Amino acid sequence: MDLAPSPKAEALRGELRDFLDTRILPNEATHQQQIDASGDRHHHPAILEELKAEARERGLWNLFLPDAEHGAGLTNLDYAHLAEITGRSPVIAPEATNCAAPDTGNMEVLHMFGTPDQQDEWLTPLLEGRIRSAFFMTEPDQASSDARQIASRIERDGDEYVINGRKWWSSGAASDRCKIGIFMGVSDPDAEPYRQQSMILVPLDTPGVRVVRDLPVFGHYDGHGGHPEVEFTDVRVPATNLLAEEGDGFTIAQARLGPGRIHHCMRLIGMAERGFDLMCERSLVREPFGKPIARQGVFQHWIAQARVRIEQARLLTLKAAYLMDTVGNQGARMEISAIKIVAPSMTEWVLDKAIQTHGGAGFSNDFPLAMMWAHARTLRMADGPDEVHEMALARRELKRYLPES
Ligand SMILES: Cc1cc2nc3c(=O)[nH]c(=O)nc-3n(C[C@H](O)[C@H](O)[C@H](O)COP(=O)(O)OP(=O)(O)OC[C@H]3O[C@@H](n4cnc5c(N)ncnc54)[C@H](O)[C@@H]3O)c2cc1C
Repeated sequence: MDLAPSPKAEALRGELRDFLDTRILPNEATHQQQIDASGDRHHHPAILEELKAEARERGLWNLFLPDAEHGAGLTNLDYAHLAEITGRSPVIAPEATNCAAPDTGNMEVLHMFGTPDQQDEWLTPLLEGRIRSAFFMTEPDQASSDARQIASRIERDGDEYVINGRKWWSSGAASDRCKIGIFMGVSDPDAEPYRQQSMILVPLDTPGVRVVRDLPVFGHYDGHGGHPEVEFTDVRVPATNLLAEEGDGFTIAQARLGPGRIHHCMRLIGMAERGFDLMCERSLVREPFGKPIARQGVFQHWIAQARVRIEQARLLTLKAAYLMDTVGNQGARMEISAIKIVAPSMTEWVLDKAIQTHGGAGFSNDFPLAMMWAHARTLRMADGPDEVHEMALARRELKRYLPES
């Protein structure tokens, strides 16, 4: 199993690292200042458009999409090496390179399941970074970690579908740049459980779509469209907005969530590495009780533990990406679940230690540690809670011990 990047990805890696170090990291403060100055946390700052134009010119664009005509034509393994770099600046780098969630997953769905008309209307502007998108699955009134419980309705009426329901944690949907959403709901309550749901495209300016409220994460409101609660009341869209066939909701969800999950994990490794850098740098310059923090035994334990935990998670992520390339997303399902359990907790642990090393500063916005910690923590929930992935893995493991029927 060769987990090294291809020569093409190696070249892109050098370019991306340079772009990160010379353009993205030095502009993190400007990005925040421009948002603050606008008085709107969902403001799209000019610096981001500048960085997007530059990334595109440098060939650092749509790196996630395996299709060479529309994307960079990289394997999952190659992309893993690159996504790790964008994870070092999770608020800016993924969007600057048009590789941000939930757009990447939505673009993959449109790429795999969209009709030519759907692709012209929505995939093209997404691939060009002109608009953003949302994914409407989770519902406040249902245990949505079990997607069979999703209760929103998608009902056929002549040439249209009528959509009713309430979603929340709809990342990105509060931004006026978010123009389209992929909505999951029940189209046939009498079908067998995995054929009841469909997915349909809903333009956000359709009458009946209403952003009810933005949701804070640990008391802090994210920018870039946040994670709002959205109400859908008698929303009518053309029947041609349906993705694939009625009843294909689960099939599409499975196809979407595989790559999406692993992209998050790849970026988490980058977040952990940035936290590790900051932790080591800080430990050498602060000297409480007469010697650098770096020379305290407990700190050396953290450094060693952080390094081995990051390496373990990286290897497992690369292995999952390699298997997605060689046996397909379905064949790599268990490894994708495994890395989704490992990477957020690992990153959360490393960032927790980096915050502790920084003293009070670690909790402030003077360093990106608190923001990245919150992000890592939410990823133990988003795209499926830890426990659901553990259940899937445990079932698969136990299957090998059950008597054959
Ligand atoms: C920051 C953030 C962004 C998000 N973005 C999006 C988005 O863009 N679109 C979207 O649709 N959703 C999004 N989500 C929602 C997320 O995917 C859901 O919160 C998640 O799937 C869990 O669903 P639920 O909240 O309904 O929890 P529930 O289904 O109510 O589950 C609650 C808890 O039950 C436990 N549990 C569940 N199953 C088991 C089991 N088998 N064994 C043991 N324990 C179990 C788990 O601890 C779980 O956390 C986002 C969430 C967050 C926090």
